[in-house]
Amino acid sequence: MNITDRFEFDVVIMGAGLAGMSAAAKMAEDHPQLKVAVLSKVHPVRSHSGAAQGGINAAVAADDKWADHYYDTLKGGWFLGDQDAVRALTEEAPEAIYELDRWGVMFDRLPDGAFAQRPFGGQRRNRTCYVQDLTGHALLSTMYEIMVKKGVAVFDEWFVFALVADAGRFFGFLAFDLKTGRIGWFGAKAGLIATGGTGRIFGQSSNALINTGDGMALALRAGAPLKDIEFFQFHPTGLLNGILITEGARGEGGYLINKDGERFMARYAPKFMELAPRDLVARSIHTEIMEGRGFEDGCVRLDLRHLGAEKIKERLPQIREIAMYFAGVDPIAAPIPVRPTVHYTMGGVHVDVHCATPIRGLYAAGEAACVSVHGANRLGGNSLLETVVFGRRAAQTIPAALDGAPAAPAAAIAREMAAFAALFGDGGKENVAELRQDLERTMVAGFGLKREAASMTTGLQEMDALAARWDGVRVREKNLIFNLELVRALELRHMLDVGRACACASLPRQESRGSHFRYDFPKMDNAHFLKHSLVSMTPGGELALGELPVTIVDVPPLDEIKY
Ligand SMILES: Cc1cc2nc3c(=O)[nH]c(=O)nc-3n(C[C@H](O)[C@H](O)[C@H](O)COP(=O)(O)OP(=O)(O)OC[C@H]3O[C@@H](n4cnc5c(N)ncnc54)[C@H](O)[C@@H]3O)c2cc1C
Repeated sequence: MNITDRFEFDVVIMGAGLAGMSAAAKMAEDHPQLKVAVLSKVHPVRSHSGAAQGGINAAVAADDKWADHYYDTLKGGWFLGDQDAVRALTEEAPEAIYELDRWGVMFDRLPDGAFAQRPFGGQRRNRTCYVQDLTGHALLSTMYEIMVKKGVAVFDEWFVFALVADAGRFFGFLAFDLKTGRIGWFGAKAGLIATGGTGRIFGQSSNALINTGDGMALALRAGAPLKDIEFFQFHPTGLLNGILITEGARGEGGYLINKDGERFMARYAPKFMELAPRDLVARSIHTEIMEGRGFEDGCVRLDLRHLGAEKIKERLPQIREIAMYFAGVDPIAAPIPVRPTVHYTMGGVHVDVHCATPIRGLYAAGEAACVSVHGANRLGGNSLLETVVFGRRAAQTIPAALDGAPAAPAAAIAREMAAFAALFGDGGKENVAELRQDLERTMVAGFGLKREAASMTTGLQEMDALAARWDGVRVREKNLIFNLELVRALELRHMLDVGRACACASLPRQESRGSHFRYDFPKMDNAHFLKHSLVSMTPGGELALGELPVTIVDVPPLDEIKY
């Protein structure tokens, strides 16, 4: 098995969702002399950013302030967010929105021309700009047009299977073209990982099937640690099959009710009600269901009927369609059955506020990265914002740091190619689909919405055993063209890496903070755990847990979070 194509670029971006494309477009605009390429395992507009429904936050209203957005984000994240990073996110948000507007995103407007903004959870005012309930799709399509217009080289349906780094320096990616089976070496002075989240390790999730943590795992293997990877967000309102019903539905005024017809959030968050932060609403729904106040189908109900047909059709057309197709319910006439669904990866590749990893020349942005702006729980509408703000930041940082990289180490590339070829060798009895199901079952049992020592200890042991079983995976189909057996095998390896890292960081965090809720340690413990976790991988594949202080600038962390 040989490399068939050799490309050299200044910058290669792995991932063409909103983070990757924002970085590419901005870099091409500000530095037209640079050769920039993006690689994506799906066509860019099929990237998962397109699924985002509800909107993107920014203090753009005349009477709103970035400082309020800053505080709401810190509190929503249980003060685990780094304050310099959260400041960058919220202070640079308005400019990011104005630029998207200039580039052609058709944001909904008020009659006076100002941005329409809906309320989202954990925020003290309406701050979420939107395009109906299709915001991600609108942003992604516009960004793709801009990126292509600015001359970025796009390699769509190329699957990256290796990141080559040596002696602490990045050199390039190896990828194969799903359409032709050609294998390419993409050498570059700098690389950006923008591969999105990893929700699929839990099986049923609001995430697309492609959200398998490829970039996080390759970075981990190359020597860049994963930060805060124990924090996975459950969105309160998924359908039974995991498909998302946006927080925008509650933002527009939807109620959550239990089988007794009670708006139960009054007992958990009397002030914010359905618009409390996601971790709190998800846990409240879980409690209602576990204590017998759910419906027979294991769900509670999201009631939109009182909004009226006109508002539902105008503001939530996609939600209505999803509810009708996938739950058989027209929300104009009946409430939607909902329950929490795995949604977002707060942790990711450890980067600083300039998107730099500890590996020279390697950067990360978007959901694949952990800057960290979301802390222990992301507020809705802040993730699209992160992709754009930190995509732009990467576009500023990377060109300024480019240097004359030494020649790529042939031995390191050969090693990666040999490992790839070995996947097609003889022997090996493991079945990828079965192994993936075992992974999903283990993650749900050990590291779900509520956690405790016993189940996490079992989960940790099982994850190590599952990772060992991956060595028995072989790909029987030798032709690389649309070889989905190969794709699923590689994705599984990445999911196992991220799942193991989550398991490794979860057990020692003996407190409850945001999405990491423990029955056995139900309180937040700033004295011992106001710190980031850092999971690294040794060359032998062992995981090691380290830590990093949280950056506190001007807001003293609270000892208790109430809404
Ligand atoms: C259903 C849903 C609704 C959401 N709604 C909102 C919302 O309203 N507001 C909000 O702020 N956030 C929302 N989010 C979160 C937000 O959409 C995501 O966090 C964000 O879009 C991630 O963008 P990204 O660019 O980091 O990654 P993605 O958009 O996921 O892009 C990842 C890219 O990496 C590529 N890639 C991955 N692996 C490989 C590989 N091996 N080789 C080559 N390419 C690879 C993919 O092809 C893709 O191009 C929502 C999430 C979900 C699941």
